[in-house]
Amino acid sequence: MRHSLIFTLAGLLILSACNQKDEVNINLKYDDNLSLEYHEVIDAYSQLADYYPEASLVEMGKTDIGKPLHLFMISGDRDFNPESIRKKGKCIILINNGIHPGEPEGIDASIEFSWNLLRNKDNLKEYLDKVVIAIIPVYNIGGALDRSKYYRTNQNGPVYKGRRRNARNLDLNRDFAKQETKNARSFVNIFLHLNPDVFLDTHTTNGSDHQYTLTLIATLYSKLDTAMGKFLKEKMLPDLYDRMEENSDYGMIPYVQMSNYFGDIKDGIMAYNDDPFYSTGYTALFNCYSFMTETLVYKYFPDRVRSVMDFLTQLTAFTYDNCSVIRQLKDEADRKVRDRETYHLDWEIDMSYSEKLLFKGYEYARPEPTEDRRTRGYYDHDRPWTDTISYYTKYDPVLTVTKPWAYIIPQAWSDVVEKLCHNGVKAFRLEEDTELEVETYYIDKTEPSGRANQGHHVNQNIKVRLEKQTIPYYKGDFLIITNQHANRYIVEMLEPHAPNSYFAWNFFDPVLESHDFYSIWGFESHLMELLHEDEGLRTEVEKRKSEDESFANDPMAQLRFIYERAPMYEIEKYNRLYPVARLIREPRNLEREEYHDLVTP
Ligand SMILES: [Zn+2]
Repeated sequence: MRHSLIFTLAGLLILSACNQKDEVNINLKYDDNLSLEYHEVIDAYSQLADYYPEASLVEMGKTDIGKPLHLFMISGDRDFNPESIRKKGKCIILINNGIHPGEPEGIDASIEFSWNLLRNKDNLKEYLDKVVIAIIPVYNIGGALDRSKYYRTNQNGPVYKGRRRNARNLDLNRDFAKQETKNARSFVNIFLHLNPDVFLDTHTTNGSDHQYTLTLIATLYSKLDTAMGKFLKEKMLPDLYDRMEENSDYGMIPYVQMSNYFGDIKDGIMAYNDDPFYSTGYTALFNCYSFMTETLVYKYFPDRVRSVMDFLTQLTAFTYDNCSVIRQLKDEADRKVRDRETYHLDWEIDMSYSEKLLFKGYEYARPEPTEDRRTRGYYDHDRPWTDTISYYTKYDPVLTVTKPWAYIIPQAWSDVVEKLCHNGVKAFRLEEDTELEVETYYIDKTEPSGRANQGHHVNQNIKVRLEKQTIPYYKGDFLIITNQHANRYIVEMLEPHAPNSYFAWNFFDPVLESHDFYSIWGFESHLMELLHEDEGLRTEVEKRKSEDESFANDPMAQLRFIYERAPMYEIEKYNRLYPVARLIREPRNLEREEYHDLVTP
């Protein structure tokens, strides 16, 4: 069944219906060390959707290159409506491929996996009784269309690989929090439409070398709802590793993030902290079990495809076996998050706690430096080892905030409100001008990153000061009440000192510029007069001069010091004031109306 979907303000509209075909003719080429080209991928899914009534292919918005983002679904009872699927108690798994098109094994593996499910190879169809599969065939279409055998130089196939960055030269796996690409916006269309229980994003890594073909990043259990995290740590992850050990030729190991950058895997590895700018970090904010497969670049492409295919099968099998628990935990977490008071926004690894992990590695060789003093360490494949290593999995929160009753956002910043609404956030508008006592943040310190990151010099090491004050608001200003399914996204994006906030991504940088200032030439005599009249101020300046030599020799700094203590400094109260305020409790008689206009595709 093949559909085109467009979004309207009211919802989804199905434009065209099914078109049954006689046969499926898909020619996968991974055994020849080739990954399918973009048009072949879409053709393969179109064939499956045309032939099997249990399959559907729809378009869910645009990407930056101008082509639509597709969503392929397999549903045993041919019901493709996520709400109705969920009402039946079934689980939805969403698989995202080709975010980095040079890492394409998931693209080819997902096609074969889908075909196997639909043609009931190895009785796989049984899983469709409880599990619905949703697949984004290729996410970074712009990158997939630009192929070269020189991309990912050290990777062991396929011959032709896509480009990592997209049509705007952005790394899409850094865009899930700020969502500046059409790809990310269309992903959100899909994600909110499905509200999946499990999410998988497929990748290839060059960050290590060892005997494993397949590694796995799972969202940190400490970042999930408590009961969901416990299930992930104690049941889901051990079971997935066991299943891969028993049922796949490839096995699986956690993603290798070394605990000591210049050290050896034998020194231990750490769980990966997937911030919300990553796909899995973003999806986990919405109570979804989220994973990235990272196959190893040095392993041959056909093996990498097969290992991902095996994981897709085992992930589906686990979800089938545990569907009712997974659903119950997610539904409960979706309910609880609306009332959740505290939110952890930044994390640090606890190196005092580790688990033991059986690992199969290669000895790291450190040859003598060459004549030009270069040393080149390498993993010696002739010297494999098997040993137990430390696996550091515990991250502790280092920034925790309590949510306000609501955030209030002046309409001057409606671009931010529009982004929130696109993520399913409900906004209200004030119906009349009003003054409100709110908690406000002053940005005391921030350092723009020296190197551009995604076209941004992101704000880092942000230090804020909280102050209560009464601020005038105007009819049409926005109110974001924190009783929503998207609560975690709201808090992560609006607390300015959160590492992935809109503030960190420079959306509010104009507030860092001075509000008003004085002309030194005309103002100096005026300030000097103030100094003359105010004995206390005079003493303060003299004291500072005696304590700080550079201050004593800097007339400009002295002038600034006096200005900051003069009555006219009052006009600087909006300087470095973060415009999104926290309304701690609901004011009486606050007139507001629900806002819909900004919800766009
Ligand atoms: Zn990647």
